[in-house]
Parts: sequence; structure tokens; C-alpha cells
Amino acid sequence: MKKAISLIICAVMVFCAMGPAISAFADGSCNCGFSPVIYVGPLGCTSIVRDAGTENEQQLWKIDTKFLLSNLNAVLPRISRGILFHNTDLLGDALVEFVNACFGDLALDSEGRSKANVTTPQLNVPEGSRHGPDSDYYFDYDFRLDPYEHAERLHEFIGRVKALTGHNSVKLKCSSMGGVVLSAYLDKYGYDGIDVIICRCCPLLGTAVAGEAFCGKIELNSTSLTRYGEDAIPFLETGFADDFIEGTLYALLDTLKGAGVIDGLCVLGDRLIKDVGDRVFEEALIPVFGTLPGIWSFVPEEYFDEAVSFMKLPEEGGLHDKVYAYRNAMANIQSNLRAAKDDGVKVCIICGYNVQRTPLVTLWKSTSDGTVDTKYASLGATCSNVKEPLDDSYLASLENREYLSPDNMIDASTCALPECTWFVRDWLHCNGNAGIDELFSLVMTSDEVSVKSFDKFPQFLEADDDADMIYPVTASPDALTRLKERPSYLNFIRYIFSLIKRIFQSGN
Ligand SMILES: [Zn+2]
Repeated sequence: MKKAISLIICAVMVFCAMGPAISAFADGSCNCGFSPVIYVGPLGCTSIVRDAGTENEQQLWKIDTKFLLSNLNAVLPRISRGILFHNTDLLGDALVEFVNACFGDLALDSEGRSKANVTTPQLNVPEGSRHGPDSDYYFDYDFRLDPYEHAERLHEFIGRVKALTGHNSVKLKCSSMGGVVLSAYLDKYGYDGIDVIICRCCPLLGTAVAGEAFCGKIELNSTSLTRYGEDAIPFLETGFADDFIEGTLYALLDTLKGAGVIDGLCVLGDRLIKDVGDRVFEEALIPVFGTLPGIWSFVPEEYFDEAVSFMKLPEEGGLHDKVYAYRNAMANIQSNLRAAKDDGVKVCIICGYNVQRTPLVTLWKSTSDGTVDTKYASLGATCSNVKEPLDDSYLASLENREYLSPDNMIDASTCALPECTWFVRDWLHCNGNAGIDELFSLVMTSDEVSVKSFDKFPQFLEADDDADMIYPVTASPDALTRLKERPSYLNFIRYIFSLIKRIFQSGN
């Protein structure tokens, strides 16, 4: 009898130790009701390493600070002499040498293949069967390569995750460049076996910063530089007296702008670009970044032809074919997502707006999350310039205001999927936010997913980084209202500077 009892206890213990398998049927399928999540990471989701495993091992991406500084040290005296004595040859040589020393080995060959000694040794393979709302499988990739190569790997990855978990479908949560991988995937394999698609800040139709850079349009502008700094300040995590440091930095930036220091820096920068920009493009940027199909995937359609010529893309060969192949994925993403949605896949596209974008491009007024333009991430929203409402004439001509943001900055009716595209004002590119995570949980667990499905999360939201939350957008915020709603030192400083600006403007 004792033997029988201990056998039963043993059997129970073994069964319990199997964990998630408890919810499995005898045929290995899982009945937990929550298909596994695959997180398709952003650019730089895995390290790119030269001579991995040898004593010369060097991480090339993300570039390691020591490596960057040692390369900079080697050229700094020549850069200083070049600037000081206005010796453009010396300066050009030094800058070209610096860019090539840091990034040269990232370049791909004419077939779009990496150098044999430059690899991604830490790529994930799915392991274990643990899945659920708080657990995902991380798909990473070498951002330089052809997105269709990642799509093939993702296809195998999905198959493996299904086998491990006993589910016949998965959820794809794509962050930033993850949307490029998704675009190639949907174009090649369709949406079979996918039940949820989330696109977080994805450059689905590209980003202007890549389009303009690949056409050689670089411009420094003091307003955009100052605003870029100001918009990034609330996201600083200094770990100590955050609010005070943020407020002080904001005041400092605005003061420097007012005193003309930032304009002076821009003049210097513009002179530098004029003097040596062509050479740095010709001898360093084009030979490196022009060979990366991954970076080409960020070029919006309207820049593409000019970029092909400016970046001297070869007229044939593997690299040429790979760069051109992705144009199909980008051209088809709207119809591919629409088809998936119409067939019952739950889709959530979410993007930031009203953040000052990278201050190096001529299109600096394009509203964005700081990196990806809202119009490209949202698949076609009509957007105002950053920090401004849409034109009065546009607003007056709008017959249907169902998809117009309460601050009059975004008209989502022109999006490919207006009913499942969310917008978050003042949300910096891919910044973590508990409110947005809560929205994702709802998207993953609800039967109906649209901008009308969740009272707490309507189409237009506003990010509050300090509270780590998002709120429905009400109207355009003035500094005093923001201070009253969320009293903080940073908002107090913002209010004071808005007053100073108003007095200054009325005096002019
Ligand atoms: Zn399950």
C-alpha cells in the first residue's frame, strides 16, 4: 500500500514539475488560450562583432565607446588643426579615416554579404516552452542584411516556437526596424499562423532621416537642434533629482539658444559640412552605409530614385537585387496588413508624434517620435508640422472628423488602417511606458481590437514619462495648463520660458 502511495506521490510530483505542460493535451498542443509572443527587435538588437572568439575580437555594433574613443584619439589632433587653420584636406583625411576605422568593416560586398570575419555570434534560438502575457521569444538579426533573409529566419523561428509551445499560431510584436522584418515576412509568407500583429514606432514606409541622408541632404538648424534636446530631456534617467536636473537642462538649452550660442554652433557645423561633407560621403559614408540593404529599407519611396543615384547603388548584382526586392515589401505592407486584419488578425499600429525629429535633415518640421516620421509609421496619416496644428484650410475642408485628433494635429482618416492605428503625443521613439504595455496586453487578450475598443486608450493619447503612463489627448497643451495638470519643476521651467518668449515676441 505504502509503495502504491509513494508511486502516486512521485507521479504527481513529476507531473507538477512539468510546469506549462500541465495545460497541454495528450497530442502536445497547449490549451492555455494564449498563443506565444515573438518580439521582433529593433536595429541593433544583437551585437555585430569582428574576429569573434579571437584575441582581436572587437564589437562593431553597437559601437563600443572605448573603440570609438581610441579611433577618435588617433585623428583628433588633425581634426583640430584642420578646423583651426581651415585646412580642409587635413580635416577631410582625418574624418574619412575616422569613419572608416569605426564603421568600415560593417560594409557588405557587391552581393550584399558580410565580410567572413564580421558576424553576429549571439543570435537567439528559441528555447523552452514558457509562454504567456509576461514572456516572449526574442527574435534578433543582423540589421545590415537583406530583410528577406531575416524573414526566412523568422519563418523557421515561428515554426520552432509553435513546436515548443504546442500552439498553431503566434503573436508578432515588432519594434522599430522589427517592422521592416515584418514587411518582408508578410510579403513572402503571408499572415498564416499569426493571430496578433503589433507595430511599435515602425518605419513601415521609411523615415525621412534615411531618405534625406541617402540623398546627401544634411542641414543643421538651431531651432530643431534646441527642440531635439528639449524633447529628449523629459526622458532622461539621471537616477538622482531627475526633475530638477531636467528643468535645469531645459533652462540651459533655452538660454543658450536665446544667447545665439546654438546658432553659432550650427554655422560652424554648416561650414564643416560644406567644406568636407562631399568627401566624407564619397570616401566613407557611401562605401559603408550604401552597401547595407537594411539601411536602404528605411528610405521612403519618394527619395528612392534620387538615393540610388546619390549613393551609387550598383546597377546589377546581389546587392542591387536585395535593395530593390525590399521595395516590394514596402509597397505591399498596407495591403498585406489590411488583408490580415480583414481575415481576423488583430492589428495594432502605434506611433509617436509631436517630438522634434533628428536635427540634421531639411525636413526637420516633419512631426515624428524623434526618429520615425509619424506619417510613415502610421501608414499615411495627414500630419501637421511638429508643435503646430493642421492648417485652418485643411481643417475647414474636413467633412469627417471621426479620426481627427483633439489637438488638431493628426488626421488619421488617410491611414491605411485608421481603425487600428494609435497615436501618442510626446512619445519618444520606442521609449518604455507602462501605459503602452497595458494597451498591448489588451490588444493581445481582447476579442475585438480597434481604437474604439478600450475606453482608457482611445486613438489619440499623450505620454507622460514621469508618471510612466499615457492619457487621452484633450486639446493642444499650453505650458500653464500642463503645469497645473502635472506640477513638476520641468513643467514650471517650461512655463517660465513660454512667458519670457511671449514677452520677447510682443516686444518685437
Ligand atoms: Zn499555451
